[in-house]
Amino acid sequence: MRILRIQTLRGPNYWSIRRHNLIVMRLDLEELAEKPSNQIPGFYEGLVTALPSLEEHFCSPGVRGGFLSRVRQGTMMGHIIEHIALELQQLAGMAVGFGRTRETATPGVYQVVIEYLDEQAGRYAARAAVRLCQSLVDIGSYPPSELEQDLKDLRELCRDAALGPSTETILKEAEARDIPWMQLSARAMIQLGFGVHQKRLQATLSDYSGILGVELACDKEGTKQILRDAGVPVPQGTVINYLDELEGAIEEVGGYPIVIKPLDGNHGRGITIDIKAWDEAEKAYDVARAISRGVIVERYYRGSDHRVLVINGKLVAVAERVPAHVVGNGKFTVQELIEETNRDPNRGEGHDNVLTKITVDRNSMTLLQRQGYTLDTVLPAGAICYLRATANLSTGGIAVDRTDDIHPENIWLAQRVSKIIGLDIIGLDIVTPDITKPLREVEGVIVEVNAAPGFRMHVCPSVGLARNVAAPVLDMLFPNGGTGRIPIISITGTNGKTTTTRLIAHIYRQTGRVVGYTTTDGIYIDDHVVEKGDTTGPQSAQVILKDPTVEVAVLETARGGILRSGLAFDKCDVGVVLNVSADHLGLGDIDTIDQMAKLKSVVAESVSLNGYAVLNADDPLVAAMAERVKGQVAYFAMNPANELVQNHTRKGGLAAVYENGYLSILKGDWTLRIEQAVNLPVTMQGRAPFMIANALAASLAAFAQGVPIEAIRAALTTFRASVHQTPGRMNLFNLGHYHALVDYAHNAASYEALGSFVQNWPGERIGVIGGPGDRRDEDFIELGKLSARIFDRIIIKEDDDLRGRPSGQASELISKGIIQEKPDCQYEVMLKETEAINTGLDRAASGGLVVILPETVTRAISLIEARNPLPENMNQL
Ligand code: ATP
Ligand code: ATP
Ligand code: MG
Ligand code: MG
Repeated sequence: MRILRIQTLRGPNYWSIRRHNLIVMRLDLEELAEKPSNQIPGFYEGLVTALPSLEEHFCSPGVRGGFLSRVRQGTMMGHIIEHIALELQQLAGMAVGFGRTRETATPGVYQVVIEYLDEQAGRYAARAAVRLCQSLVDIGSYPPSELEQDLKDLRELCRDAALGPSTETILKEAEARDIPWMQLSARAMIQLGFGVHQKRLQATLSDYSGILGVELACDKEGTKQILRDAGVPVPQGTVINYLDELEGAIEEVGGYPIVIKPLDGNHGRGITIDIKAWDEAEKAYDVARAISRGVIVERYYRGSDHRVLVINGKLVAVAERVPAHVVGNGKFTVQELIEETNRDPNRGEGHDNVLTKITVDRNSMTLLQRQGYTLDTVLPAGAICYLRATANLSTGGIAVDRTDDIHPENIWLAQRVSKIIGLDIIGLDIVTPDITKPLREVEGVIVEVNAAPGFRMHVCPSVGLARNVAAPVLDMLFPNGGTGRIPIISITGTNGKTTTTRLIAHIYRQTGRVVGYTTTDGIYIDDHVVEKGDTTGPQSAQVILKDPTVEVAVLETARGGILRSGLAFDKCDVGVVLNVSADHLGLGDIDTIDQMAKLKSVVAESVSLNGYAVLNADDPLVAAMAERVKGQVAYFAMNPANELVQNHTRKGGLAAVYENGYLSILKGDWTLRIEQAVNLPVTMQGRAPFMIANALAASLAAFAQGVPIEAIRAALTTFRASVHQTPGRMNLFNLGHYHALVDYAHNAASYEALGSFVQNWPGERIGVIGGPGDRRDEDFIELGKLSARIFDRIIIKEDDDLRGRPSGQASELISKGIIQEKPDCQYEVMLKETEAINTGLDRAASGGLVVILPETVTRAISLIEARNPLPENMNQL
């Protein structure tokens, strides 16, 4: 077996609209192409031994053991690899279940599609599955040590990609609220929402976390001063820089017991609490000094540690934190009890799990000593042995929810403190013997405040109710149930995408909104170029969706990008499908026109429930997509009598048609006329029917989004396709007494489109035609036939680059087509393109049109420009 390619999909795609995260592996079964599993001796047994849990895969039989029974009866290796790749991820703790396997047009070559949670892990699992299968084929087994290593690697990949518990909590809530999110490339920042409505997060810092509030919270001494000035109870204490100040400081805070901690510290590092004697104090000073220059000396307050979380000025959760400890059973030593406690699967390393493993360090040893224990002491049943003095979860502490117990006065105080510090999301550390009583009554104090407080102790407390603390964050960032979305209009089809995208963008601009759009020639925001190039894939779309100035996204969505990585967005408000015709077939395992239609229908199927799929009723492949659309459907058609349109509007549906020379919206029984086609520059005085179709699609998309008819009209009558923006796309030049047209028509449908325009030209029509040598013979003949139908005179030329064809052959094929269609047609062969173009232009009659299908668009345009055409804005017909 050989892996030919592995692709990662991240949005709605060819295989699934709902499952965005898929790995697509193109796999050549080679020698196994003719060998289903039942013909490989020992394969079934080896598989069951390696992965007994495959029993749980139902597969097509729909029952437990279903998949394994298919392996026994004989199924192809690609299908087995799919199931193994999913199972490996499952075993590594990633819940995935979706998979598909299809043979491609190349016999023995399969596409294996598997779901992933983490991209890297998904790709790994795909490769590992192939390895596993190959081993079963070769030696009848897969070494357990290999499997173990695979699972270990997979778990590691999954862990490395994890976003941290607080972020995960917020994103889960965001998903429940239909708020889209994406990871930004730097600083672990997350973007919630799109475009102008986006908000950013970094752990629990938000767009609204002011820099002054954050800095103040990080300055323990400054915080204490500000709070003390406001009458908030804080520890009595002082800051020193030298050891000889220590004695005075202890006196100043009222003598022992005291606390010594670094001025700039966190996570409980360098803190010694409940210091009762001078030698302890000296040691504690050194420890704190090792972390920070300034050292805080404070009175020690009795009580337990509480974390109070205030979001957007409202208290949302209170957790009592108990330092890392073990409870005796009369049998185990302290060391054994620690190991026992750490076996809890909820305990992980650092911040990556609900709880953290207990580790023994210098602090623990001192603490043990104080309690009269060693690690080898067998702890009496029920006795509590503390291993940390401070209650941080990250050093093995646990949390108990006390949200319902806190005294109302303390709530008021905490909320007030959040405003005094000036932080939207703030964690207060309160030491008090009793949180149910006002702090001032029981000598409770606010020890410090934290910016970017962790959420996990509130979301997964060890005891008590879990609190949804993500909800108030999102209520703050997206009030009134907002989702942070901007309208997304996605345009696909074989031809006309760029034109329609530009038209829609132009229509939206009439409404004063900032439009971001992507096309084959670049990314634009508000008509400024962001980036030049073919930008019709998901990465370019992301540039628009990430841009904080964009109010509306209009995205040309080409086949290549959908195939390569899926759509850039989970859903769109309008999905326009212009047409589907034979072009690009044979690329990326899209071999038939039906497959192409399925690929393009991803756009229509990704339309949101209250959005619109704008479909071409004149194109049966496009019209058929309506069946799978979850949102509403709106049709456009060149013929108002189109049956589909008639039935649709009779039921109150929305449509756009070309009727009596007008582009009109049909809404139920009503006809809303937008404008006469002849008044749209883009239709070239109504002579380019396909441009009318594009304009209908664009108008309908905008109308469905509530854009007023007036704005649509204003846009259509002012929109011009510029030669410089889209060279080679119906570029019309006015050369005084005649016109020249340059178009890089590259498939049968665009020849037809071009033909429909040329046929409407009132004067004499000269064609200067030819095509790249790598097209099929029949394409040249077809071009010849079409040319005979639409041109009065034809000059056949050939490309400089013959792409493997002998000189004269392409022109011969074209001539053949011409003669078949119209034996008396006037044509001649003039192989050099420059000569052919110049001859065509020289011979143009008054009122005539010279149509050029060039090899090099820029060369053709410069030959025309040498003849001084009228400026583009005067390019009226
Ligand atoms: P973190 O970053 O985890 O909040 P930190 O390094 O910022 O910790 P503090 O919050 O100042 O340190 O102190 C850690 C813990 O030590 C407090 O939560 C509290 O349990 C205890 N503590 C600190 N100062 C005092 C004090 N004056 N009296 C009693 N306990 C204290
Ligand atoms: P590409 O796939 O190359 O990006 P596109 O779909 O963006 O193409 P446009 O750039 O808008 O299409 O138009 C390209 C050419 O296709 C035009 O010059 C014209 O010849 C033809 N064309 C445009 N609209 C249509 C249409 N609705 N039907 C058929 N042909 C069209
Ligand atoms: Mg603290
Ligand atoms: Mg395009």
